[in-house]
Amino acid sequence: MAQAEHDMEVPVLVVGGGGCGLSASVFLSDLGVEHLLVERRESTSVLPRAHYLNQRTMEIFRQHGMAEDVYELSTPLANMSEVAWRTSLAGDGPLDARDLHRMDSFGGGATAGPYADDSPCPSTNLPQHRLEPVLREHAERRAPGRVCFHHVMDGFSQDPEGVTARVTDRTTGETSTVRARYLLGADGGRSIADALGVTMDGDGGAWNVVSVHFSADLSRWWSGDKVLITNFVSPDGGPVSRYGMVAMGPHWGLASEEWALHFHLPPSIDLDVSEQAAGDRVRELLKLPDLDVTVHQVSRYQPEAVVARTFRVGRVFLAGDAAHRQPPATGLGLNTAIQDAHNTAWKLQAVLSGAADSALLDSYESERLPVARRTVDWAMFSFRNHGVLHAGLGLMPGQPNEVTQANFDALFADTPIGETRRARTAEVFRTQRMEYQAHDIEVGFHYENGALVPDGTRPPPRDPMGSAYHPVTRPGHRLPHAWLASGEDRVSTHDLVGSGGGFVLITGPAADGWRRTAKRLADDCRVELTVVSVSDDPGPDDYLDADGDWAALRGVRQDGAVVVRPDNHVAWRTVRGGPQAEAELGSALRAVLGHHVTTTGS
Ligand SMILES: Cc1cc2nc3c(=O)[nH]c(=O)nc-3n(C[C@H](O)[C@H](O)[C@H](O)COP(=O)(O)OP(=O)(O)OC[C@H]3O[C@@H](n4cnc5c(N)ncnc54)[C@H](O)[C@@H]3O)c2cc1C
Repeated sequence: MAQAEHDMEVPVLVVGGGGCGLSASVFLSDLGVEHLLVERRESTSVLPRAHYLNQRTMEIFRQHGMAEDVYELSTPLANMSEVAWRTSLAGDGPLDARDLHRMDSFGGGATAGPYADDSPCPSTNLPQHRLEPVLREHAERRAPGRVCFHHVMDGFSQDPEGVTARVTDRTTGETSTVRARYLLGADGGRSIADALGVTMDGDGGAWNVVSVHFSADLSRWWSGDKVLITNFVSPDGGPVSRYGMVAMGPHWGLASEEWALHFHLPPSIDLDVSEQAAGDRVRELLKLPDLDVTVHQVSRYQPEAVVARTFRVGRVFLAGDAAHRQPPATGLGLNTAIQDAHNTAWKLQAVLSGAADSALLDSYESERLPVARRTVDWAMFSFRNHGVLHAGLGLMPGQPNEVTQANFDALFADTPIGETRRARTAEVFRTQRMEYQAHDIEVGFHYENGALVPDGTRPPPRDPMGSAYHPVTRPGHRLPHAWLASGEDRVSTHDLVGSGGGFVLITGPAADGWRRTAKRLADDCRVELTVVSVSDDPGPDDYLDADGDWAALRGVRQDGAVVVRPDNHVAWRTVRGGPQAEAELGSALRAVLGHHVTTTGS
């Protein structure tokens, strides 16, 4: 740590250098906010853990110049466009290596259309042990000497002006005191929420997931080059008869060298899952007794479905797993963590720069807590839905192995009822699209209360199965993506908002009135407010609505305006322009920046 042994003052102390904390560090640096990050581990995660990066996360990485580095290492869409369910990977019995179902996934295959239409960024896949070094490099490059691994925060206290934290350098054993205006608790739920006395509401840790991370050449047996995840439902019974496997790269599809195999272990089952036994367990489950397996790690994980009752106590914010923890289904844990960091970073910058009132910081909880509740519920529900799939196969908990096997025999039988069973299986398995085609859950979340000015309209209907997304410019929603042209360049509406904390006002060709108002307001409010004109007949500095998509999406007239926040969510809109609308923009901006509430001590 720079000035390691000495007391240090920084505007923001980030505790935790996982996906949330490292992303926060990058965002804060891009926003020009000085900060210190401390991470207790010596290195980034050695466990693959979370791996799926949804479109919203990739949009955020694009905004902050990290998307290309992630895409360079991550799974091409072509190698993650299908999820398979099978009885086993190999084996030569009549019920071995049989397909139960296949589903297009993550914006690949038949799901490609809406995913490609709605975002400039495809979703992708990069396990944490490969992602975190990329994030760390970006964070360190932007804030040299301020991203301190092998440093632990041992405790903290706060007063009305700031937070005082004790940080120990684990290499030297020396402890120093860090004084910060704000603390971002991205500690994965290890201690900060407890220290604050914050209750976590929900279910927790009732079952164990064992994850075996190993290398093996499975190119002859894997479920196909398009498949990222295979879920296994074994007819054999036994303690581990339902498990999942994920390709972990560094090459993808059939060429993946690394794999993660996850299975549940009920507390009542005594099974040797030591690293020594794990290789044999993998060979046995895959039905490949001679497979050459190198086990890297065996980890145990107790999925929870919990949300902190509050995300902010005084000057301390909880983000990522510190604020909410969910089962892995739908891959929302890491994505939500990164999106929390993105939501809070620009608000901290606006308050620290004096542009916003500290009341703006209250909107972190009012915006992110409902999203966290929804994602935690969703993850739990889609996780439990695997039980519905198993029931659809005729499998009931505790049923004798002979009954299970008889069900599988009947499923594959060349009989009319066998055909009916297969048709039913297909219908039931399609419900799992809530996990693998959760497009609306991923990009359609929105904020009802927070740093926005509602316009009295109702949100569009939401698909209860989480797939169909309706893009809108209604305040609180993520800005819809449309391709625009600027000279030879093709840009997304998302690219109009930079990474430095400015607001953007999108209007049509007659932008002069908006430009004058924006300039005056930007000076008054001390925020950057750029006016962008988009039309089908643009001037030299304007954007061409390349495919007419923006006209269809903008939800306002040509002379109206959509004001976008630094995090690409809509803050305010007006259907039409004119002097009154221009006057309303001023109060809208002030309300968004928290100036309608009088508080002190920012
Ligand atoms: C074994 C396992 C498997 C998982 N699989 C999936 C999955 O498949 N899909 C999914 O979406 N999610 C999964 N998750 C959850 C996912 O990994 C988390 O949602 C994600 O890592 C959250 O990121 P985070 O930065 O908030 O927390 P973390 O990644 O937990 O990072 C918190 C960091 O804070 C550090 N820290 C803690 N206390 C201190 C302190 N006092 N001082 C300094 N540093 C501190 C920790 O060392 C840690 O590095 C899994 C989790 C585990 C444990």
